[in-house]
Amino acid sequence: MTERSSDSKLSVVGDNIKRIEENIEKAKQESGRTDTVRLMGVTKTVDPEIVSFSVRNGVTLLGENRVQEFLDKRDRYEGSPEVHFIGGLQTNKVKYIIDKVKMIHSANSEKLIAEIDRRAAAAGLKMDILIEVNIGEEESKSGVMPDMLDELTAKVAEYGNVRLRGLMAIPPVNVNGSSEIYFEKMYRLFTDLCARTAGDGRYLTDTLSMGMSGDYEAAIRHGSTLVRIGSALYGQRIYR
Ligand SMILES: *Cc1c(COP(=O)(O)O)cnc(C)c1O
Repeated sequence: MTERSSDSKLSVVGDNIKRIEENIEKAKQESGRTDTVRLMGVTKTVDPEIVSFSVRNGVTLLGENRVQEFLDKRDRYEGSPEVHFIGGLQTNKVKYIIDKVKMIHSANSEKLIAEIDRRAAAAGLKMDILIEVNIGEEESKSGVMPDMLDELTAKVAEYGNVRLRGLMAIPPVNVNGSSEIYFEKMYRLFTDLCARTAGDGRYLTDTLSMGMSGDYEAAIRHGSTLVRIGSALYGQRIYR
């Protein structure tokens, strides 16, 4: 990056942050919410310098999709952001990230949860996880089917080095812009989960991770507590 293009790129990102923060506030107000909605910057393909700029400007929570890319970039992140892993995670890669992230959003099988637990125990920590739900019940997507959620939730309690914090979803993209029915379904699953785990110290269900660049305001109106934003924050990606 030249000095100049870098400056203009940063000012665009600065404007994006302000706009997104305002939109989040507006969506909260429209739905009468006074609780916290966290903004996550999704960093895939983004230059670490730009990520660091966003951290300095208030985006202190980052979402990582790819293990190798994260390991390559993390030393260049400034300002000690909180990092969550949000991408597809193979069991054999858990060991590389276990002590470098604060939460894993993509826990989608008992096998993966068992490995997270094993590696967390070895590292002497307790890992916060979200169960990824395949809310559109799409064959091409990962995630736990909604009707299997209760069973997996109950099993998570058997693993002493993971703590279930809530649910995550990437709903189907609909041309009419109506991921809203999926957000509503997720909200219902989440409130059921909260009710079932309330008062049980093995759980701390406070996080519903849903909403991306194209639909985060709708997700907030349907109860999201954490929106994961990439392109609206950092600009269009060349690849996914
Ligand atoms: C890429 C990605 C996002 C952000 O997508 P945008 O549409 O660019 O905001 C959010 N969540 C996950 C899991 C992703 O992989």
